[in-house]
Amino acid sequence: MEVLRGIAVSPGLVIGRVFLLEDEDRRVVRRFTPAAGSAEESDRARAALQASISDLQAVKERAEREMGTEAAKIFLFHIGVLQDKSLRDPIFKRIETEHMAAEHAVDETFGDWARRFASMGDSAFTTKVNDLEDLRNRVLGHLMGEHNRTLDELKHPAIVVADDLTPSQAAGFNRELVQAFVTDRGGRTSHTAIVARALNIPAVVGVRGVDKAAQEDQAIIVDGLEGVVILDPTDEQLDRYRDRQARLERRQTVWKERASEPSVTTDGVPIRLLGNIEFPDEVAHVLEVGGHGVGLYRTEFLYLTSDREPSEEEHYNAYRRCVEQVRGMELVVRTVDLGADKYTQHRVELPERNPFLGNRSIRYCLSNLPMFKRQLRAILRASAHGPLKIMFPLITTVQELRQAKAIVRDVMEDLAEEGIPFDRNVPMGMMVEVPAAAVIASSFARDAAFFSIGTNDLVQYTLAVDRTNERVADLFTAMHPAVLRLVRDTMRGAKSRQIPVSCCGESAAELDFAVLLIGLGVRTLSVGSFSIPQVKRLVRSVSAEECARIARRALSLESPSDVSAYVRERVRKAMPGVFDSGED
Ligand code: PEP
Ligand code: MG
Repeated sequence: MEVLRGIAVSPGLVIGRVFLLEDEDRRVVRRFTPAAGSAEESDRARAALQASISDLQAVKERAEREMGTEAAKIFLFHIGVLQDKSLRDPIFKRIETEHMAAEHAVDETFGDWARRFASMGDSAFTTKVNDLEDLRNRVLGHLMGEHNRTLDELKHPAIVVADDLTPSQAAGFNRELVQAFVTDRGGRTSHTAIVARALNIPAVVGVRGVDKAAQEDQAIIVDGLEGVVILDPTDEQLDRYRDRQARLERRQTVWKERASEPSVTTDGVPIRLLGNIEFPDEVAHVLEVGGHGVGLYRTEFLYLTSDREPSEEEHYNAYRRCVEQVRGMELVVRTVDLGADKYTQHRVELPERNPFLGNRSIRYCLSNLPMFKRQLRAILRASAHGPLKIMFPLITTVQELRQAKAIVRDVMEDLAEEGIPFDRNVPMGMMVEVPAAAVIASSFARDAAFFSIGTNDLVQYTLAVDRTNERVADLFTAMHPAVLRLVRDTMRGAKSRQIPVSCCGESAAELDFAVLLIGLGVRTLSVGSFSIPQVKRLVRSVSAEECARIARRALSLESPSDVSAYVRERVRKAMPGVFDSGED
């Protein structure tokens, strides 16, 4: 039994079996094969070693021609290593006696050699460690090129364990087969995590070393509520988790039954609860759990689930489906927010040095006008079927906002000329997710019909903490007083022009932060559908006036931990029971 801890990103408790997913950097997973498969694995290893030797002979000959025999000698050393019995024998021994898969045996054996060389102290050996790494990669390249594990090999329900997953990999998961996933890397607000919540797949990320510790087909428990992963659980742990699973199911049933209860604070202030979605299918779930519409539709997932750019019709069909399902309630369609950790194939080929500060979101759209206009045409066409709002992401300058709005108006003219119906008064608002936008919110309020605060990016840019990096996950918190002051500035800016403000970042679903948002005057919260019942439960047990008092004081505190401790203490005193898990 082994207990590992990480970051809980998508709730749920799952007991299952491990499916190890190798990544493209040739990080090898600890895979074993049945005894009967050993001969086949030995043949694969032998062939990969031979193919690597042939490659190196060709490289050596070319080097001799181009650089002379002296320089080419290094490749003789490489070839010698791959022919050396003291390297080859342990590889075959591991395959035959320990039943390791060929990749696993090669990786372990090269690892032993590298450690031995590194510990020799003599630079003649220590400098060879990089050569060994190169050789390992070459041999693995032959093995994994021929047998690179992909999700297509997953044929039965299992829990995917990987070093990391991209948002598009997660978006492509077959929900019938992927019961949960666990990754070595990642953060709570990474888009992979967001997709997991959207698809209702329990997940824990940032579990350091899990892809090395887990073994194929091993029994595993994934606790997406507490961020715990248990490999080879004991019978007692299994019983305990089965018990908790049953309690969780009961809780969900109760919450569904309460979906129609009003979302009003104890002193009568209505707080509108909306859902964040990535796929049109999610609208039904948002409404089922009591959401009053969609406060953020992340349309870029249309791109991320396809290997080519969606056509205008594909855009239109998706938006129309959403409009029809929300039946006149709120629907905020955000224009594509590609870039940073959300890539199209085309952009993967042109990597940026610092993509979170790069040509992402609205910047990308403004520099790819045909693509942007195609989406806007589709959104406007869908607006003929029911009310919707357009929201632009990552707005940093007033010019950007004006330019984006001018493009919408151009597209409106085109549609009018073609006689295609649309809503000419469609409201156009913006995300406030860059500190610059929050600081000069009053300037933006002249041109924006509404604001939606995106704490995922706002926190990342304010605190200089990469939202996808597990190593700095502890520093990522919306409870930092600087973030609270930016929310306050946004509210003030909005008030100067009487425009509405919502918060659609993941932190809106964190109960202590939600108390502060309500206290700072935010009256619309947009959260993942799973969180709607929980946030409603909070709303129904707090007083907006008390929240305002708490927020006023929190603004003057020094650190995130001071703010958290203060909010929890005050809420516990003034509104006992608010932070209970509600699991029973
Ligand atoms: C945000 O940044 O808070 C947000 C809601 O947008 P996304 O998570 O898609 O970047
Ligand atoms: Mg964002």
